[in-house]
This record gives sequence, structure tokens and C-alpha cells, in this order.
Amino acid sequence: MTAIVWYRDDLRVSDHFALYAATESHASVAFIYVLDDKAPGIRPLGGAARWWLAQSLRTLQASLRERGASLVLRKGSAPTVIAALAREVGADAVYWNEIALAPHQAIENQVAAALSEIGIVTHRFPGDLLAPPNQIRNQENRGLRVFTPFWRRVQAQGDPPKPLPAPKRLSGVANLASDRLEDWKLEPAKPDWAGGLRDNWQPGEAAAQARLKAFLDGSIAGYSGDRDRPDRDGTSRLSPHLRFGEISPRQVWHAARFAAAEHPRLSADIEKFLSELGWREFCRHLLFDVPDLATRNLQPHFDGFPWKQDAGALQAWQRGQTGYPIVDAGMRELWHIGVMHNRVRMVVASFLVKHLLIDWRCGEQWFWDTLVDADAGSNPANWQWVAGSGADAAPYFRVFNPILQGEKFDPDGAYVRRWVPELSQLPDKLMHQPWTATPLELASAGIELSKTYPHPIVDHRAGRERALAAYATIRGS
Ligand code: FAD
Repeated sequence: MTAIVWYRDDLRVSDHFALYAATESHASVAFIYVLDDKAPGIRPLGGAARWWLAQSLRTLQASLRERGASLVLRKGSAPTVIAALAREVGADAVYWNEIALAPHQAIENQVAAALSEIGIVTHRFPGDLLAPPNQIRNQENRGLRVFTPFWRRVQAQGDPPKPLPAPKRLSGVANLASDRLEDWKLEPAKPDWAGGLRDNWQPGEAAAQARLKAFLDGSIAGYSGDRDRPDRDGTSRLSPHLRFGEISPRQVWHAARFAAAEHPRLSADIEKFLSELGWREFCRHLLFDVPDLATRNLQPHFDGFPWKQDAGALQAWQRGQTGYPIVDAGMRELWHIGVMHNRVRMVVASFLVKHLLIDWRCGEQWFWDTLVDADAGSNPANWQWVAGSGADAAPYFRVFNPILQGEKFDPDGAYVRRWVPELSQLPDKLMHQPWTATPLELASAGIELSKTYPHPIVDHRAGRERALAAYATIRGS
């Protein structure tokens, strides 16, 4: 008999429950990915993520082909498209890994109903979480809103299942019609702004595995401290691979635990790394409970916050032209390579929300469009965390000082030099506050403030005070 495996955010062949179960029980298997930009409740991908998706689908196609199968690409609503393919191949069962989010679950139910009408059974498997959201609840059956007890509960569940191996051979279904990936126009053409993404990333399962291995063999040593240093190669850079399911959190978990057993001196760094994976999990669980996390303040008193409408300031922030080198470096890194270091994400987000008083949703949307790892849970949850309106959030009155953050986490200015080359000749001590340089120092670094590099668009101290005053207006409400 023939089965179908429905791919979504799990673009890999190893540790894939649905693929494994379908191939174990069926003589032949068809694989499908359905593109539906209009699926109700599902946020359409931003530009950078669409680029990643195209590369990821291409590598998955190649990987399935090597094993004797193919990936069918079709556009439309999943229930209609999958039921049609099931009829076409005479399938008796359809398999998929679940996505524990309300709009995805609604579509899964529609797919199951459409298939059941034509007598086809469905098999669903746990998706890419370490623990399903319905298992980590408080006494009122609500998800946990504070990270530490949440993570303790997830860890108390013990190790997640051991990753499944990738099948060596697959018995696919020949000659199935498929859309051409190019016709989906996922990649930018005119203009083609994806050069920086191509130069810096290798999407796909094999690259994800190689990155994990290189990280655990190398920069994991010292991760706890280095993870805050944007001038160092101190983190795993696995986020877009995890976002598209090219690697599963179970695979990361077990590889990390294995490394800790082999090298006990790395244990503390590995625990810290796994707790970051815990934050991914925490954000997803939050989104499970709060499907409108990207648009609604989790703390309702923020609804009355006096945000400013300032298109000019927003544009300066987006373009990396605020006059604060660490902020500008981050925003330009994001534009060029589709990610930004976590420490700098916090700094630029705080700057937008507090120094510029611009609604966190404007920043969240910009990140959504420009991040290759844009994640429906992690992005809004972290924005709300920085803004102070979220779960387990940083208090609003903690305003990051972009000068001190730069001096502390990029002490030699290497990160700024990389992304803001017009400042590269400045001495280290001036790197994070070029406006304090003497005319002679500026001239010898080839800088003309306001011409080659902007003056700060807001004074740090005045911006901080303005933010605290704005916060005072909602504090008691
Ligand atoms: P590592 O330090 O190697 O961490 C390992 C993994 O843990 C990451 O790949 C990621 O999956 C997870 N992780 C680490 N930190 C966090 C965190 N704070 N929240 C959730 N998961 C985390 N991460 C996204 O994956 N997608 C987003 O859209 C996203 N938006 C963000 C927006 C803001 C304003 C902020 C402050 C953070 C955001 N993050 C987001 C979290 C974090 O910045 C990235 O996950 C991290 O920079 C990815 O780099 P890495 O893979 O080298 O991380």
C-alpha cells in the first residue's frame, strides 16, 4: 500500500516520526509540501524566511531523491491538495508531525476530515518540541508564565525520545506532477537582495548537523560567557535550522548531553546552551496559549502606553542610522545576513521601544520580515519580554544603555567595525560614542559627523528619562 507524508516545519529525513512510521508500514510513500499563503491564522512568511524556505526545500528534494523518492510541491489549501494527491496515488494513510499551535491544529483537523470522507486514515506524531504544551500546565490548566519553573518542569520529564535514524533507501511514487520551486517565487529577483544570505548561510539538514557538530566540538567551551559577545563566534547559529525543522530539538538535546558525558568540564556550558533551547520551547508554549502574541500586550496595562508615531526615527533604526554604533551594527547585520546576535537583538529592541518610544509591534514586524529565523513564538515573545509587556518580562524601567552595552560586550569594537565600516578607523575607546571624539580624532578617522555617520538621533539620558515618564503614565493602571 501507499502512504503520504505531509511536510511542514520539519524539513529533514532524520528524526522524523511521520516519515519513519510511514516507511515502516508501507511499500511506497509519496512526500508532499503544500504552500498556502492564505491559510487562516497562519502568518505569511517574511522575505528572508521565504528565501530560507526555498533553499531548504531544494536540499530536501535532493535528499529524498538520493534515497529513491521525490518531494511533490503543490500550492493551495492543504485539505484539498492532500486529499487530491491521496486519490491520485491510491493512498490508504497520511502521516504528519503535529504543530502544537491553534491555527495549524485547525488545518490538521480539516485535513483529517477531508481524508476521512474518502476513507483514508491519518497518523499524527509529536512535533518539534521537547514537551507538548498540554503537559506543562499549572493547577488552573494554564501554561506557565515564568521561565525557571517552566524549564524545571520540562527537564523533570527526563530525556526526550532518542532521535530516529534517517532511512538509507525510500520507495517513492514515480512520476507525480509537482510545481517547480522557481515558480513559487520564494526568492527575491528584482532586486535580488539575498546576496548576503547566500554568502553566509547553508540551509538544509546536512548543514544543520555539521553546524551542531562544529559547535559542540568548538565554541561550546566558554559558551556561558561568550554567548553575550557579538564580536566572537560564540553561539551555535542553529536558529534558522531549528525554525524550519532541518534539525530537531531532540537531536540537539541528545548530541549536547552526549558531549557533556564525554567532556564533563563542558557540563556548565552545555546546561546553559540547553536552557536557551528551553527559551525556544517557552516561547512556543506561550504562543500555544496566546495565539495573538504578536499583536496583543500580554500585560493589558500596556494597552494605554503612549507610543509615538515617528516614521523618520523608525526608518533610521531600520537602516542602522541611529548614531549609536552598537544599534546600527546590529540593524545592518540583520539586513545583510538575516540574523542578529542575541545580545544585540535585546539592545536594538530596547532602543526602539524605550529611547524612541516606538511600539514594539513595529520592531517585531521588521524582524519578522528580515530574520531568516523569524519564529512565530520566539519573535513576539522576546519583543514583549524586552518591552516589559510580556511573560517573565524585563521590567520596563530597565533601559539598556547602548554605550555601556557596546563597551561591555564589544570592547574592542570588532563587531561595530565589521558592520559599520565608516567607523572602522576610530580608536577602540571612542568606538561606542563617536560624538565625544575631538575634531582631530574624527578627522584622522575619516569621519564627518552628520555626513559620513549620524549624530545620535536621541540623547541617551534624555531618552531614558522620557521613557520612564511615559511608563509612569501606565504604571498604576
Ligand atoms: P544559541 O545561543 O546557540 O542558542 C541555541 C538555540 O536556542 C537558538 O538557536 C534558539 O533556537 C534558542 N534560543 C536562544 N535564545 C533564545 C531566546 N531568547 N528565545 C527563544 N529561543 C532562544 N530567536 C528565534 O529563533 N527566532 C526569532 O524570531 C527570534 N526573535 C528574537 C527577537 C528579539 C527582540 C530577541 C531579543 C531575541 C529573539 N530571538 C529569536 C532569540 C535569539 O536572539 C536567537 O534565538 C539567537 O540569537 C539565535 O542564535 P543562535 O542559534 O546562535 O543561539
